[in-house]
Amino acid sequence: MREPSKVPDPVAELLTAESRGEVKRGGDFLDGAGSGLRAALVAEAVRRGADLPEDWAELDGKRLLRACLARTDGAQVRKNPIARDEAFACAHCGHEVPAGGRRPRDHCPHCLHSLHVDVVPGDRAAGCGGLLVPQAIEPGGKGTRIRYRCAACGAERFNRVLDDLAIPDEPAALRALSVRSSG
Ligand SMILES: [Zn+2]
Ligand SMILES: [Zn+2]
Repeated sequence: MREPSKVPDPVAELLTAESRGEVKRGGDFLDGAGSGLRAALVAEAVRRGADLPEDWAELDGKRLLRACLARTDGAQVRKNPIARDEAFACAHCGHEVPAGGRRPRDHCPHCLHSLHVDVVPGDRAAGCGGLLVPQAIEPGGKGTRIRYRCAACGAERFNRVLDDLAIPDEPAALRALSVRSSG
């Protein structure tokens, strides 16, 4: 980090990071700087068109900065080149889940469980791998979402309800979860 010359603007400085080394150093700086700077960074990244994960407050400095930078860079062509859409066997019920097609399928259509593998959707960067247990159905900015708690680390996560794919989330499972979460 070089010293800002006139008006101190560490946020703008952080958002110029490009190399892995710069992102790492910026992340370390963020970790030592406290929540005020984190909040200012997030506000500026969102202003520039970033779309941060809902749990950004839990990310360490390096991952938070990376999320801010990635989405800032991609804001024009809103695509996620690392999003993966793969078939998998559900870790909870064993259901063989095919790939989503139109959108990556990130949870089981049968029991709605998921795995704690992503920081930003599709990046497989969480390094936890715990079972995400559905807690509730909630309205969200991009449509109805499922709120999860990770059985391994306790993190809270959200996935969109996938009701418009060839194999949609099973209405009975969604209904059971909304009944359970409202009562
Ligand atoms: Zn399942
Ligand atoms: Zn976890």
